[in-house]
Amino acid sequence: MLDSPIEYLKGVGPLRGELLRKELGIGTFSDLLFHFPFRYIDRSRFHTVSELREEHQQVQLRGRISAPRTVGEKQGRRLVATLSDASGSVELVWFKGLKWLLQSLKPNEEYIVFGRPGSFKGKVNLPHPELELASAWDTGMEAALQPVYSTTEKLAAKGLTSRALWKLVKTLLPQVSGLLPETLGSEQVQWLGGISREEAFHQVHAPTHAQILESARRRLKFEELFYIQIGLLRQKQRTQQSVRGHVFAQVGDHVNTFYARHLPFELTGAQKRVVKEIRKDMGNGRQMNRLLQGDVGSGKTLVGLLSMLIALDNGFQAALMAPTEILARQHFATLTRMLGDMPVVVRLLTGSTKQAERKSLLTALRLGEVHIVVGTHALLEDRVVFQRLGLVVIDEQHRFGVAQRARLWAKSEVPPHVLVMTATPIPRTLAMTLYGDLDTSIIDELPPGRKAIRTVHRFDSSRNAVFAFLEEEITKGRQVYVVYPLIEESENVDLKHVMDGFESLSRRFPLPKYAVGIVHGRQDQATKDYEMARFKKGETNVLVSTTVIEVGVDVPNASVMVIENAERFGLSQLHQLRGRVGRGAEQSYCILMTGDRLGSDARTRIGTMVRTNDGFEIAETDLKLRGPGDLLGTQQSGLPQLRIADLIEDSALLQQARQAALRVLDEDPGLAEPRHAAIARTLRERKDEVIWGRIS
Ligand code: ADP
Ligand code: MG
Repeated sequence: MLDSPIEYLKGVGPLRGELLRKELGIGTFSDLLFHFPFRYIDRSRFHTVSELREEHQQVQLRGRISAPRTVGEKQGRRLVATLSDASGSVELVWFKGLKWLLQSLKPNEEYIVFGRPGSFKGKVNLPHPELELASAWDTGMEAALQPVYSTTEKLAAKGLTSRALWKLVKTLLPQVSGLLPETLGSEQVQWLGGISREEAFHQVHAPTHAQILESARRRLKFEELFYIQIGLLRQKQRTQQSVRGHVFAQVGDHVNTFYARHLPFELTGAQKRVVKEIRKDMGNGRQMNRLLQGDVGSGKTLVGLLSMLIALDNGFQAALMAPTEILARQHFATLTRMLGDMPVVVRLLTGSTKQAERKSLLTALRLGEVHIVVGTHALLEDRVVFQRLGLVVIDEQHRFGVAQRARLWAKSEVPPHVLVMTATPIPRTLAMTLYGDLDTSIIDELPPGRKAIRTVHRFDSSRNAVFAFLEEEITKGRQVYVVYPLIEESENVDLKHVMDGFESLSRRFPLPKYAVGIVHGRQDQATKDYEMARFKKGETNVLVSTTVIEVGVDVPNASVMVIENAERFGLSQLHQLRGRVGRGAEQSYCILMTGDRLGSDARTRIGTMVRTNDGFEIAETDLKLRGPGDLLGTQQSGLPQLRIADLIEDSALLQQARQAALRVLDEDPGLAEPRHAAIARTLRERKDEVIWGRIS
């Protein structure tokens, strides 16, 4: 019954059925039930004409309508009628559909009028209101709360308006009675206000009361989130039960020597805690799948290195994978430098590793002569074979697709432990949904002695003052990044901006007193390396670049980050870029340059950056501005489709759903108890067993 094709529903038929399928993905009765209203109109409340204010979002009036008259010429031509009730009268105005209205409107009848007030020459009016004869209303199927469904222009043109969809749902509801069995345990249902699943569907589509509607929506949202969480947690349960992990039982020479002789500073408390968590994870016989979150500059690399040394101490190899070549090179340099004279062989493998070099490297890896390999996607290729791969550390995770990560499994019989380090914090709710099957560690503390970066917003018109400031800083011996956005569709135009910027900066900071460098994606690797190396060594004062330096680049002496066209960057990108400075002891600055005119989102982004340095707060704002899909970008396809819950609005409920799922699995891992029968059955029936969010 629920799987019946939608065209079999009374009032649909083949033509509309096809359209519903194409336009809204509604192919079955069940799909229609799950096409939830996105808002409700409260039609129990009537306003009087004298109460009308332009600020009202929606008003509903009841009164008599005068015969309509046509006013104005050509573009300004419109139809005007007057609605009067006991308190006064107001003009109703239409610019479209005049002919139809003239024909159908019944003068001097009583109407219910619904709409959003506007104004004309200082007087409140009602443009394009919805009309309904009061006589029809009084006898009709109207409810106080009227659901509004999303529809499309094509559907509306064929009569499938929100109202028509509502009618279809109402036709369907009585037919499915008894077919919507309970999916939650009775405890949970009680906790959610005692509304059964069937009742919830009825209330959501045909509410009888605002309060019950609210409970019904909450119940359905909870259910949706609960099944995502229990799916993820069962995934984790399965992995833990079935997948053996290497046991790293000991901490030995590598870790001890490094700790005692090579560590240039004390670990922060948070770093220590996280290393302990990782150690425990890798020692318990199960495969580690851990997400390491930490703000920009919180010292994740070192945690990664210590974890790799633990692998080495247990006779295994380790790999560190980065999303860009620049970053891989930098990690390679950092590790080599930090390890100093320790007997650890570290090699680099990227797309531009030369053939001969690659060959020797691959052989050495296979023979176990290389202990740590640092690289890009090149590490994923099939010909990369390890002797004994024990741990993979993935840096700046959001650039890697789920599928790419999956290929790591194939690299050894017992899968390696996996540590994923994020570039920027992910909002809690998102992390819970995307990585709900991973364990999470958080570095919530920056290394001591960091001065908070000062961030300011400057308009292009004050560029001279900005340049003067740069000159002061350069004179003090500091270095400066100037970053330009690069957006693919107009790559050539963008590149021109970078080149122009480079030229004007070179003119302002001329040789031989100053030196300005440039890095962008069109350069070959050797040129990029050369430019990066010069900047790192302090040979250039200013580095003009595109966002190739966005992620992870570490030059502590650079203390000023100028971001051009800052309005064109997303929040997390701005935060990443800003994180390139503030790495040394000096006061650092981030200058966000924009044009004079900013949209409201851009203003919020810039304002947030100026206000706070806290990556978690920024991530939350970013989520609100962009929504979960955009935030993660196109490469990250891991998010489930939500029908009714909203990761932003319902974050509290999400946490409750996760807690509930944890409790259920904790008390009854096999879901064998009678009180969990409904949950066990639902999970069995769900064809789309959760696979997203699965990292390994
Ligand atoms: P991220 O978490 O952004 O990857 P990094 O690992 O690049 O951060 O570390 C940022 C900088 O902080 C590096 O220069 C690193 O050497 C330094 N650092 C890391 N841990 C500490 C610490 N405990 N004390 C002082 N400096 C540290
Ligand atoms: Mg990093």
